[in-house]
Amino acid sequence: METKYIFVTGGVVSSLGKGIISSSLACLLKARGYRVTIQKFDPYINIDPGTLNPYEHGECYVTVDGHEADLDLGHYERFTDIQTTRANNVTTGRIYQSVIDKERRGDYLGKTVQIVPHITDEIKRNVKALGNTGKFDFIITEIGGVVGDIESLPFLEAVRQLRWELGRSALCVHLTYVPYIAAAKEIKTKPTQHSVKQLQQLGIQPDVLVLRTEHDIPADVRRKIALFCNVATDAVVDSKDVDSIYKVPLTMHAQKLDEIVLRLMDVKYPGEPHMAPWLDFIAKLDAATEPVTIGLVGKYVELQDAYKSINEALLHAATYADRKLRLVYIHSEKLTEADVDEKLSGIDGVVIAPGFGRRGIEGKFTALRWCREHDVPTFGICLGMQCMVIEFARNVLGMADANSTEMDTKTTHPVIDLMDEQKSISNLGGTMRLGAYDCVFRPGSLAARAYGSEQVRERHRHRFEFNSDYRNAFEQAGMECVGLNPDTGLVEVVEMPSKRWFLGTQYHPEYSSTVLSPNPIFKSFIQAAINYRNEK
Ligand code: GLN
Repeated sequence: METKYIFVTGGVVSSLGKGIISSSLACLLKARGYRVTIQKFDPYINIDPGTLNPYEHGECYVTVDGHEADLDLGHYERFTDIQTTRANNVTTGRIYQSVIDKERRGDYLGKTVQIVPHITDEIKRNVKALGNTGKFDFIITEIGGVVGDIESLPFLEAVRQLRWELGRSALCVHLTYVPYIAAAKEIKTKPTQHSVKQLQQLGIQPDVLVLRTEHDIPADVRRKIALFCNVATDAVVDSKDVDSIYKVPLTMHAQKLDEIVLRLMDVKYPGEPHMAPWLDFIAKLDAATEPVTIGLVGKYVELQDAYKSINEALLHAATYADRKLRLVYIHSEKLTEADVDEKLSGIDGVVIAPGFGRRGIEGKFTALRWCREHDVPTFGICLGMQCMVIEFARNVLGMADANSTEMDTKTTHPVIDLMDEQKSISNLGGTMRLGAYDCVFRPGSLAARAYGSEQVRERHRHRFEFNSDYRNAFEQAGMECVGLNPDTGLVEVVEMPSKRWFLGTQYHPEYSSTVLSPNPIFKSFIQAAINYRNEK
């Protein structure tokens, strides 16, 4: 089958969930047996989101090939089990960088380099890059931002040109917002009409409209929107708020979004998508009533997207264990000796979050000491694992000023230290140890038992590492380095076998947890939390 391109744009306001709609459509097409991938084009000028802080952009996701990516790529992977790469996330910055490099090389042969056609050609080249591999039947391309933004204009111009060139092999899905005015008790279609007009002014006629709404949209309102926007009535689909994002593929399928897309693209669609495993997950999600309470200790807990992949990985694991995840956010900057008892007492398991910099770090040590002394299941991820090591050094090994050199360059016990390969690096963008690396476990360790394997590959995003000079001291005192990188010896996993479940990973297992393939270490942690709850 010739590769088909589906473009997803957004109108009216941001945060409508284009990523979830794109993921849901991909999930349905994949369940019909097609080879699908999703890519995101972000109109900002940063080369990638790796240099953006979570206040700006939520979590930074990491692909297996070590690209720091938009968090929507996390949704793509969780909904489809596909592995994305650097090619799945392109920003304006990358487009311009590549065009400017070409200009400096002289590739444009004396021509004036312009937004049209040079920037738009570069966008089109990137849109088609995954399609040209021949590995996919459908490429879903999500355009970040909102129609009408100055920044997204070149991307929309590229979409217009591609639709013209590709004919029925290209399709545009536009997501808009339909507000409800409570005082008038009315659903309002005007913002949708305006945003479609804006798209049309740019030369793009949407084929499918997805209406985000908090209320049911009556059939006559849908017909009205169809009429004003030149879209078939059955191609106006609504996406009403649901209690879990994982139900969106089902609500889309109930309105035949997958069939409409296939019909409009002249693809035959025999039968139904194979959604049985997905439905099993949803059934468990709905059936779970018994809670498991997990505390997440971090400094960005007020931002709902800052630890997105961790939240989702915990949810996957809890759901498969037939428990309802109750996630309690614990602000690491506000956690002190005075209130740690009160804040952690009712909790079944504690996650110490990843992060950068000194802010909030003392609260992580306070939480870790309490958890270690009370033998609560505890899971440290990346900086969380590094804090586990520092707290142990300070309070068990008696190294009072032990620290990471990220936090204190003058510490006499740098138990966490900058990796050698990092010492000569000055640019901050894209220079961490990124992406998937192997980790080999000590046979019989908690980590090996959790994975049911002695070797795994998980993703990383860090500059600092466990300082191997201290390995013996830690091992003898009961914190064991049970996971190592086979090539460099870098410590990937530490654990305390004397505890119920006390383990830290230098890598980020949350990035690889999906609905149909939950991450084993999260499953093991959640099971330990459930056991602990039952014991209490
Ligand atoms: N700041 C730490 C490092 O660079 C941990 C990074 C993280 O938690 N992702 O090593």
